[in-house]
Amino acid sequence: AVIMTDVHKWFGEHHVLNGINLTVHKGERLVICGPSGSGKSTLVRCINRLEAHQQGTIMVDGIELTGDSRNIDEVRREVGMVFQQFNLFPHLTVLQNCMLAPVWIRKVPKKAAQEIALHFLERVKIPDLADRYPGRLSGGQQQRVAIARALCMTPKIMLFDEPTSALDPEMVKEVLDTMCSLADEGMTMLCVTHEMGFARQVAHRVVFMDAGSIIEENTPELFFTHARHPRTRTFLEQIL
Ligand code: ATP
Ligand code: MG
Repeated sequence: AVIMTDVHKWFGEHHVLNGINLTVHKGERLVICGPSGSGKSTLVRCINRLEAHQQGTIMVDGIELTGDSRNIDEVRREVGMVFQQFNLFPHLTVLQNCMLAPVWIRKVPKKAAQEIALHFLERVKIPDLADRYPGRLSGGQQQRVAIARALCMTPKIMLFDEPTSALDPEMVKEVLDTMCSLADEGMTMLCVTHEMGFARQVAHRVVFMDAGSIIEENTPELFFTHARHPRTRTFLEQIL
């Protein structure tokens, strides 16, 4: 589980997270949405300490994220992250991208790491692309590599930050399908996305952020039909 308690974050004078209280339980699938600049990426990035929060506590699977680098390493081992811009290593093949962290961080022997990588490339339905370089893949394929790469570390939770928003429309579905299949297997997931069809289908809870605060959260059914806050309604009118 991830437990955020009264988390604050400033960039200089700019108060970007303003007292976030949020729990993601084991097996839960949470969708975060909200306007640009509301702090969604910052929130997600704080969970694996790509950004440091300045006040409040963040617990990941019983480990508190502080400045302690041992804790940070331990948490990062358990948390998979997929970004909008894939972030694959361009000079490594798909297979090598997937083997890197298991070999260097988990100390998995190369042969075993390769088997694991091939297993997850099959899971995301691109086993035939193992020897390609990322530059020669479509955006949807690259994003599925990024998901497979994260899965190779057998994470306890997967964080997604707008994984489909850099993709051409025809590639969005293959990535969402991959995410749905992860959901079917019971993966704990926190997804920043504006794919409301996905949210409806997969999320247990939808959270709406505005100006650094969570201002509304609900089950998808109620979130979409009974938004209470005017800002949530305005947002939904724009995207639905
Ligand atoms: P989007 O929907 O556009 O991705 P977001 O909700 O993910 O937006 P964040 O990226 O979390 O928003 O940014 C929240 C605020 O923090 C924004 O005002 C942004 O300009 C600011 N911000 C983000 N990263 C930094 C940084 N490294 N330094 C300074 N300000 C930052
Ligand atoms: Mg963002």
